[in-house]
Amino acid sequence: MTLQWHHLRDQDRPGQQADATSLGLDRWRDLPRDQMPPWTDYARVDEVCRTLANVPPIVAPHEVDQLRQRLALVAEGKAFLLQGGDCAETFDDNTESHLLGNARTLLQMAVVLTYAASMPVIKVGRVAGQYTKPRSNALDSLGLPVYRGDMINSLEATPEARVADPDRMVRAYANAAAAMNMLRAFLTGGIADLRAVHDWNKDFVKQSKAGERYDAIGREIDRALAFMAACGVDDEALHNVTVFASHEALALEYDRALTRVVGDKAYGLSGHFLWIGERTRRLDGAHIDFISRIANPIGVKIGAGTSPEWALEVCEKLNPDNVPGRLTLISRMGNQKIRDVLPEIVERVNAAGHKVVWQCDPMHGNTIESASGYKTRQFDRIVDEVLGFFEVHRGLGTHPGGIHIELTGEDVTECLGGAQAIEDADLSMRYETACDPRLNTQQSLELAFLVAEMLRH
Ligand code: PEP
Ligand code: MN
Repeated sequence: MTLQWHHLRDQDRPGQQADATSLGLDRWRDLPRDQMPPWTDYARVDEVCRTLANVPPIVAPHEVDQLRQRLALVAEGKAFLLQGGDCAETFDDNTESHLLGNARTLLQMAVVLTYAASMPVIKVGRVAGQYTKPRSNALDSLGLPVYRGDMINSLEATPEARVADPDRMVRAYANAAAAMNMLRAFLTGGIADLRAVHDWNKDFVKQSKAGERYDAIGREIDRALAFMAACGVDDEALHNVTVFASHEALALEYDRALTRVVGDKAYGLSGHFLWIGERTRRLDGAHIDFISRIANPIGVKIGAGTSPEWALEVCEKLNPDNVPGRLTLISRMGNQKIRDVLPEIVERVNAAGHKVVWQCDPMHGNTIESASGYKTRQFDRIVDEVLGFFEVHRGLGTHPGGIHIELTGEDVTECLGGAQAIEDADLSMRYETACDPRLNTQQSLELAFLVAEMLRH
């Protein structure tokens, strides 16, 4: 086993100030690396990273610790994790209305889930840094270098715009800082007010074609709120919420530059929660090594090709001290595979005593191309994958810890189905994603109500 910061702290450097070298923060640079941004100007990459190494970070170490502690509750079966947001944030869409729309949708979902689960719901946005994308092909359908997220190149379809530009890391940082600043400010204001959020949900129930089905839970929440009000309960928690920020740790230059050593630990302060994607999770690779060395709560996506042995190894490697809340395994297997592939993984990881958070991403294993050529997902398959996830955990007596969703608080037409019955011919109306298809507001809320039913049964 490699020497990691935990061991340095416990055995070799008690109470001492660590540094980047002793923590191995740059070992990833010598390891195999998938999805390498096609930089050409490496001198500029270094300059930009030197700049980012001194800027104020996006998040604070104590917040990162707080999220890890809250995720420990999820690992112990006492809380639920709701994570969601754009597949790819863009600089153009980093606006007040977009950020508030996404946050509001997340909060609306959280209220329903909190009530149904009778548990705290930990809210994590794919926000303030979700600017890089792993891609299956180096070229797009026009033969241009593929778009890799606004941190790397531009979505605009010209050869010049697709050149990897290191200065985009600075723009990503500035946009992330602005987004985080706005979220922090607004989430202690009216948008997080429980009563207001519930009123928006009531509007949804009224408008939705499937509203009747969701009306019962809506009414119960109504009664619960009226009861609390009658009792004079008016806690700060009813008006404030915390939304943590997360993104895929893909452009390691950026995440490394925003890592800070505090005492004997390193914190990746580009976001509270960082995850490694399905395409970059090789155990001997750069991404897993980097993420093993920071103290954040971290996640790893696991696709249908994941073996139980691999899952055990990644637990050893990323959470050798078995800290609950440290590691989230995010299954994204597709609705047709999850019931076959996930059980043995959960069983073996659980039997080995690893304390992990189990989270279901029902989006990425269910991506299809529609007849008219759009990259899309069917709402029913998304729901079915979550259902499969619950079935697997119920069968094994383990905790279905959370969901991970690509969504937006806008009326886009990117995923098929739902009560709105979006069809292939409708996709072109508002297909706006820079990468993968997201659930729109109504589809997201509908999913929350359906997951609420699963939580209660
Ligand atoms: C994503 O979350 O947008 C993503 C690319 O996921 P995955 O690594 O699971 O394909
Ligand atoms: Mn995606």
